[in-house]
Amino acid sequence: MSTQENIIYFDYHSTTPVDPRVAEKVMYYMTDTFGNANSVDHYYGDAAAQAVKQARQQIAELIHASAKEIIFTSGATESINLAIQGYIQQNTPCKIIVSPVEHKAVLDTLQALAKKGLVEIVWLKVNSLAQIDLEHLEKVCSDGASLLCIMAANNEVGTIYPIEKIGLIAKKYNIPFLCDASQAVGKIPINFLDWGITYLAISGHKLYAPKGIGALAIKKGYHLQPIIYGGGHQQGIRSGTLNVPGIAGLGEACELRRLEMEAEEKAIAILRDKLQHSLQAQIPDLVVNGDLNNRLSGNLHISIPRIPNSAIIARVRQQLAISTGASCSSGTMAPSHVLQAMQLSENITEGALRIGIGKFTTNQEIETASSLLINAVNKIHQLI
Ligand code: PLP
Repeated sequence: MSTQENIIYFDYHSTTPVDPRVAEKVMYYMTDTFGNANSVDHYYGDAAAQAVKQARQQIAELIHASAKEIIFTSGATESINLAIQGYIQQNTPCKIIVSPVEHKAVLDTLQALAKKGLVEIVWLKVNSLAQIDLEHLEKVCSDGASLLCIMAANNEVGTIYPIEKIGLIAKKYNIPFLCDASQAVGKIPINFLDWGITYLAISGHKLYAPKGIGALAIKKGYHLQPIIYGGGHQQGIRSGTLNVPGIAGLGEACELRRLEMEAEEKAIAILRDKLQHSLQAQIPDLVVNGDLNNRLSGNLHISIPRIPNSAIIARVRQQLAISTGASCSSGTMAPSHVLQAMQLSENITEGALRIGIGKFTTNQEIETASSLLINAVNKIHQLI
């Protein structure tokens, strides 16, 4: 049995390790300055409130927003639910335009509301790279809609969307724009202020902060009905005692990404390309999925035709943590909705593997992972 320490972690889209500098901050706000940020009568509360204020500023700086526009949540799933449910409560019935390659946090929320008759969904068209057809987007926007939902970067194939262009279209037709930027914040530049985004969802654990903390940026002048009621925290939009350690950690993680992202993402892309080229050299029929010209640095989404991904996973799982992207429902494995929307052949979807690397990935890990995957493929080829 392998110990976790010996298994190379290449699943950074699923979650990232917490940066030790972030963990130190989180620990400090759990054990030392542990006050409730809403305790206005003493120093402990003041110090916690100060930490929250600083974190708001750090997040705002990374995404070019104003600190007042940041609402803390438990993660991107809650941020997305707050944006969609909080929006439709004040605007029913709603016509919502959505991309079919969004995360389930968006799709399942919309589908649940559609079932209740609260929402009419208008689907966008995507191509085999998971890119959105912008002409079709413009056409459906010109017919009018209540909300547009498009992510900044895809969590499976890593495709980066032209958010600035999409924001311009949304603005032209006066449609509020929810952008799920869970995979993008801290990886690529985001300009909340200038890009016509109305609501922007952020997830802490995708950018080296802990799980259970996230944020929603809400453009000045826009309001949302709360989905969680209570003590009226955060302008009444999201009640509940603030998760000060998580918030301070998210703030620190955003500050570090602001300072280090550009250089680190370049280095990550070099490692990713090295892995890609070494796999391509030894596995001639390897297919690389997604938009290779607009792709997250840490993403390598591959298919090995005629070899089911489960066969590769079974051979490497004691040494390498990678993902098929499939989800398990009712005991059967369903192929990813993203690959289905891209209309890739069965051969490609069945062989699909998502590799996600990040800032702690080393050159040695890339070399070892490459050999592991090539050996696994060769052994399977010998059997078939
Ligand atoms: N949106 C995208 C694109 C994601 O990748 C994820 C995480 O898997 C989420 C939303 C949900 O984020 P969280 O885990 O913070 O709820």
